[in-house]
Amino acid sequence: MTDLTNLGIAAIRDGVAKGDFTAVEVATAFNAAVAEANPALNAFIVTTPDHALAAAATVDAARAAGQSLGAMAGVPIGMKDLFATQGVQTTAASHILEGFVPHYESTVSQRLWNAGAGMLGKLNLDQFAMGSSNETSAFGNVISPWRAAGDTAARAPGGSSGGSSAAVSARIVAAATGTDTGGSIRQPAAFTGISGIKPTYGRCSRWGVVAFASSLDQAGPMARDVTDCAIMLEAMAGFDPKDATSLDLPVPAWSSALSDNLQGLKVGIPREYRLDGMDPDVAKSWDDGIAWLSDAGAEVVDISLPHTKYALPTYYIIAPAEASSNLARYDGVRYGLRDLPDGAGLQDMYAATRAAGFGAEVKRRIMIGTYVLSAGFYDAYYTQAQKVRTLIARDFEQAFQRVDVILTPTAPTSAFVLGQKSADPLEMYLNDVFSVPASLAGLPAMSVPAGLDRSGLPLGLHLIGRPFDEQGVLNAGLAIERRAGFAARPEKWW
Ligand code: GLN
Repeated sequence: MTDLTNLGIAAIRDGVAKGDFTAVEVATAFNAAVAEANPALNAFIVTTPDHALAAAATVDAARAAGQSLGAMAGVPIGMKDLFATQGVQTTAASHILEGFVPHYESTVSQRLWNAGAGMLGKLNLDQFAMGSSNETSAFGNVISPWRAAGDTAARAPGGSSGGSSAAVSARIVAAATGTDTGGSIRQPAAFTGISGIKPTYGRCSRWGVVAFASSLDQAGPMARDVTDCAIMLEAMAGFDPKDATSLDLPVPAWSSALSDNLQGLKVGIPREYRLDGMDPDVAKSWDDGIAWLSDAGAEVVDISLPHTKYALPTYYIIAPAEASSNLARYDGVRYGLRDLPDGAGLQDMYAATRAAGFGAEVKRRIMIGTYVLSAGFYDAYYTQAQKVRTLIARDFEQAFQRVDVILTPTAPTSAFVLGQKSADPLEMYLNDVFSVPASLAGLPAMSVPAGLDRSGLPLGLHLIGRPFDEQGVLNAGLAIERRAGFAARPEKWW
């Protein structure tokens, strides 16, 4: 039998349905791959082999009984440890939530279990999803399975969904969930040569997802190819009355409508994304992407998104502002850690718990957020940022009167060496320069692998679509996937 861990979502689901192998065999193979790789990659905070096996046994029994199988039947996945999972520790990679075992299941994870998927474990991430390299986790760095040619230095898997990207690219999970506030699905996907889509804001319920910046947070799939992303997004998405911002719209059948024929489609190339001093390999992969989309029938149109340069500063006001409010709930009373010094009062407990429980990056964001929301500075920073956010969204609205989808690089560089950017927060924040604008506008956006750079590291291409047009984004992604022929994998060293 071929190694079952070589298979992605569609191949596993179809193989289980046909009886080529059982779901329990698949779960067993992935559990073994996780156990072998995790000491080296640190992609999982906890592993849950029994969950994967139990879900698989249920699928095998359903098949034996002739029942119909779900869209993810028999597929073992990793769950980013930002999704609350009933009975399984949920930490957001923070010390303050260490030991927190939810009594409830997030809507997105529940939908995946309902579709027949099983959980291999909870994946590591940047603490509270704040970061671009996974170095802010309280549970240690995730090590990317990718190495540059002739260089064994440990590289970042991207962030914040770095456990997800590392696990998918190392082929130790069939796919994984991610969340994206400013790029956390797309940038790690680009760094590791996999595909990931952040749908339109509101497509996936935020209920039971640890909140970072609620007006930006969206869940989405990270998988081996575009088809697998479409299948998994269908399982994750859908209206949820428990999330006030959930979209009350039917979930389209994205996977069955996939097509790489882009005849009649207009692709916008925003000139503001061509940064001075852009990495030549990144610029070249962008040109390749333009050529592939024209080959698929699309017309290429030069467009302008004039407020692009304000996107990062705007994001780094709005996201910390919302984070400072969302993270006020971690006070030592309700969840996880409690630090109550001898003879201390309530205020001391709050201070001690938060001082011990949050990492440096999280504290930095809480302080920035509290400052921009303070009475004296609210109008100068927060109100102003909201106005600029509207202008950024308007840039996209105007562009989408002329084009159907927008193509850019996903990130300004390939995966950097761990430690290289961690001393300078601004350097780290610059990694999201291409992904943040679509987040501020709530638009669907995806990263697909484009090729390798001169050091043999993956580069991603980024597609941004109109609100609710995940299909347009997925189809353009498929057109790139078919033409890029990206088949590179990290060489196994773990
Ligand atoms: N890297 C960005 C940040 O640190 C985005 C993170 C995310 O999308 N969760 O905020």
